[in-house]
Amino acid sequence: AAKSAGRGTLRLYQAGMRDQVASRLVLEADLRHALQHGGLSLALQGQWRPDGRLAACEALLRWQHPVRGAVSPAEFIPLAEEGPLIIDIGRWVLREACSVLARWLALGIELPMAVNVSPRQFCEPAFVHFVLDTLAAAGVPPRLLTLEITEGVLLEGDAPARLRLLADAGLRIAIDDFGTGYSSLMYLKQLPVHELKIDRGFVRDLTEDEDDAAIVQAMLAIARKFRLDTVAEGVETPAQAELLKQQGCTLQQGFLHDRPRAVALFQQELLSRGLARRDTGSECVTPS
Ligand code: C2E
Ligand code: MG
Ligand code: MG
Ligand code: MG
Repeated sequence: AAKSAGRGTLRLYQAGMRDQVASRLVLEADLRHALQHGGLSLALQGQWRPDGRLAACEALLRWQHPVRGAVSPAEFIPLAEEGPLIIDIGRWVLREACSVLARWLALGIELPMAVNVSPRQFCEPAFVHFVLDTLAAAGVPPRLLTLEITEGVLLEGDAPARLRLLADAGLRIAIDDFGTGYSSLMYLKQLPVHELKIDRGFVRDLTEDEDDAAIVQAMLAIARKFRLDTVAEGVETPAQAELLKQQGCTLQQGFLHDRPRAVALFQQELLSRGLARRDTGSECVTPS
């Protein structure tokens, strides 16, 4: 009896797996369709100096599914990352980001933008050329583009050479979700990295949890030592913002300051200057 129950369980399990695989395949096909038919868009979120000036923004991919509604990139990026689709999606994001930067330049706005680069995309042979060609075709100075990569990518054999090419061309390199991956801190010494993004997981309980506070403090100390910018992710409360400011974190990103929103809205706010500086005046918008 035990044996047949076991077999029944196995069958159920397999059926469950089959459904899961099938729904993943459907979702992947939907994603490809969205990529080809205008179903993807970028949202932008600010990166703020402690004094309230806007320093840069991050591009975050959005997918509006016709039936399921908004699907989180936390769900569809890992799915795309399993296959070649991530390459095409990543290229779409880079082209889109460059076209926004070019439009802003024409409007007299020079605001740097960070884009997320998935490991598979970064390791793809044509990646460096694609990035440089896309910037050049759009007429965007490379210094306006930051590539956010994760620590794991640094373990790839030719990552150092690629980073060197990109950094020499003038792009900025940020380590996203810093402190959550597996790699040695040696890379800070050897690789052209410009910025550390402190993962939201460390910021969340920063003001209550001594361990998180100690970790963040240590990260900020390392960053200072290596003269890197630091961006705290997921800043939601004034108390977090104040502590980060006191400890010398250079930039903050999070719902306290603003939420990711459509490019058109972000741009409209930039132009009305409500965004260029939250109190008075403007730093990022060059009057034309
Ligand atoms: P990430 O790069 O670490 O992006 C930060 C995430 O934190 C974003 O989630 C953002 O909306 C969210 N966030 C920002 N401030 C707050 C806050 O104060 N509180 C909370 N709870 N969340 C906050 P999102 O947009 O859902 O993106 C999730 C992840 O998906 C990103 O994490 C990134 O790893 C990936 N992703 C997004 N867009 C792209 C893309 O174009 N390409 C690739 N390869 N990955 C992307
Ligand atoms: Mg990011
Ligand atoms: Mg991040
Ligand atoms: Mg994160």
